[in-house]
Amino acid sequence: MFERCVFADAVSTYEDARFVIFGVPFDATSSFRRGSAEAPDAMRKASYNFETYNDFYGIDLTSVPVHDLGNLDLSYLDLDRCVDDMLCMTGDTVRGAIRDSKVPIVLGGEHTLTYGCARAFVEQYDDIGIIILDAHLDLRDEYLGVKQSHACVSRNIIDDLTDRCALIGVRSGSAEEYRYAEENGIMWHSADEVSDAGMESVMRQAIDALSDRGARRIYLSIDSDVIDPGYAPGVGNPEPFGLDPRDLRAAIRMAAPHVCGFDIVEISPGYDHGESAILGARLVREFIAAKSARQG
Ligand code: MN
Ligand code: MN
Repeated sequence: MFERCVFADAVSTYEDARFVIFGVPFDATSSFRRGSAEAPDAMRKASYNFETYNDFYGIDLTSVPVHDLGNLDLSYLDLDRCVDDMLCMTGDTVRGAIRDSKVPIVLGGEHTLTYGCARAFVEQYDDIGIIILDAHLDLRDEYLGVKQSHACVSRNIIDDLTDRCALIGVRSGSAEEYRYAEENGIMWHSADEVSDAGMESVMRQAIDALSDRGARRIYLSIDSDVIDPGYAPGVGNPEPFGLDPRDLRAAIRMAAPHVCGFDIVEISPGYDHGESAILGARLVREFIAAKSARQG
């Protein structure tokens, strides 16, 4: 099922691991720029750039038990059913990690896969909330004739799975998507709000609002286009006026104590000189350090 390619310092066995990384090399519904299927391995390669020591937390990542399962083998998927099959395989792997009391870290791939992760968590926990960092609302009912598309992932999560879902960093959507958000009380915060009030304030509001709806734990999804294209040009749908990398780091540090699953998606390595994959790998490492520090 898995081919081998290992994230830096992910040298633990599966049995001993607290964190389990796997890649979902899937970009079949991508609309503007494909290539996110290459991102899991690009992030793995980039992860070797960094020191193992995180000075903010005083943690050396070599002391944290992390296992890398490699990438899901999606090569044999039937074209007509490929999205559903990908979602099932992704969900099964996440479900296995939950069952074994591990924190799954999913390297995308396009944003569509987050639905499979969220479905696995919602099935397991009735107190899960979802935080999605994204430039886009992703609230379309369907896109280019496809319902399970990267452009619909937040809509599908909210319609099918849970209303405990908050979007942060938004600056793009159709008139219909904004109207849907308004009419349905969707919790979302714009990139300008993050810029004006600071990520700590926005993240606090989001966590409190999810908590008011009963969430006691969080699944965190980062669509990399939430970051300004000046910092992360290699993404599927770049959108100017975005977040600073420090905003992402702040979001991860704040959310980490509550986070029980994490994904980073939509990096498209062919469209830059490695900056986006380097940032993605660094955010994964920050999450591992932050989660390890705050909860032993
Ligand atoms: Mn998205
Ligand atoms: Mn997006």
